[in-house]
Amino acid sequence: MPEPGNIENLQSSIDHHHDIDAATMLHLTYVYGPVASRRLGTSLGVNLLPVETKVCNFDCPYCECGWTDSDRPAGKMPSLEVLTLELETKLIECRDRGIALAAITFAGNGEPTLHPKFFEIIATAGDLRDRYATGAKICVLTNATRLTLDRVRRGLLRADVRQFKLDAGTEGMFRLVDQPYGALTLEKIVADIIAFDAPKMLQSMFFRGEVKGQRIDNAAPEEVAAWLALVVERIRPEAVHLYSLARRTAATNLQAVPAAELDAIADRVRHLGIPAEVF
Ligand code: SF4
Repeated sequence: MPEPGNIENLQSSIDHHHDIDAATMLHLTYVYGPVASRRLGTSLGVNLLPVETKVCNFDCPYCECGWTDSDRPAGKMPSLEVLTLELETKLIECRDRGIALAAITFAGNGEPTLHPKFFEIIATAGDLRDRYATGAKICVLTNATRLTLDRVRRGLLRADVRQFKLDAGTEGMFRLVDQPYGALTLEKIVADIIAFDAPKMLQSMFFRGEVKGQRIDNAAPEEVAAWLALVVERIRPEAVHLYSLARRTAATNLQAVPAAELDAIADRVRHLGIPAEVF
């Protein structure tokens, strides 16, 4: 789940190299940054997926990691030990250089909740945060497809911020925009989010274009109306973050939705009594 929003590398001496592979669009490390995020502040990113392949149960055409290679974790998933070592090393570097982290964000080369040790990793990150970066929030960006798994639920409850991705208000648009693997449905995801008994935020990507000969426009008036009615009104999240394309995408012929259109959608969310921001 790559992180949306305007991000630029902090020109700190911590990261001399660019941590995204230009050809594959994948993160080259398990812990990357810090990056300056308009949404999250100064943030360390944690990638729980392999560095050489993208693992997700969605195949969003707009994904900044390229097309999905697999929906199943292979033998190449980073171990809890490796992740702990990389994160602790980076947190110590940040502390020693006086970098005040606002967030430790779980995103990376796919869907973070697919890692079999998701709960242990989030819990360990919380312990490391308490030791080295007390001001940092543990944030998880997820497509919300695995909320009924006990280890995923417990891991998300240990996080400080949960951002659930919801890009559509109809099953048809959901299948176009997110291209889920298997029998995943929007209705099941929405029901699971509603049942998730803790504060939650939504993040929604709007874009238009053509993929595999099919026109996609989840910002069309009827789609926005369905998204508002089915998603925002039913879920009643703490806040909604809206964004459009800002970086390279898996599909090449997509167009960003202009900021004015996103602002108009955000106004309608606010009209329903839910805070909304455009990034
Ligand atoms: S949910 Fe979509 S955007 Fe997120 S990693 Fe998977 S394919 Fe990419």
